[in-house]
Amino acid sequence: MKRMSIEQLLGINKFAVDDDEAHIILKKDICAACMDKPCTFACPAGLYTEKDGEISFDYAGCLECGTCRTVCPKEGAISWQYPRGGFGINFRYG
Ligand code: SF4
Ligand code: SF4
Repeated sequence: MKRMSIEQLLGINKFAVDDDEAHIILKKDICAACMDKPCTFACPAGLYTEKDGEISFDYAGCLECGTCRTVCPKEGAISWQYPRGGFGINFRYG
């Protein structure tokens, strides 16, 4: 059986995106003062990016692993909760 790459495995997951209620919300003013921005390299889905010192984030595609909440050094920067019922990731293991 051929081994699949991480990108291929992530690609077969299904997401029900809740357009009305984000399950992760950032306080960008707090993020602006965060020097290392560990979320940009710790999120396994690569949902945090930095451009010109400003953080950009999209909750669609979130694996609900909680890593960003764990590595974030700034209290109050991330408001994190699981998606509402019926929304979020549906893992499909290939
Ligand atoms: S680690 Fe936390 S405070 Fe720093 S940029 Fe990411 S979300 Fe913002
Ligand atoms: S919970 Fe996991 S996948 Fe979702 S944004 Fe945070 S680190 Fe990325």
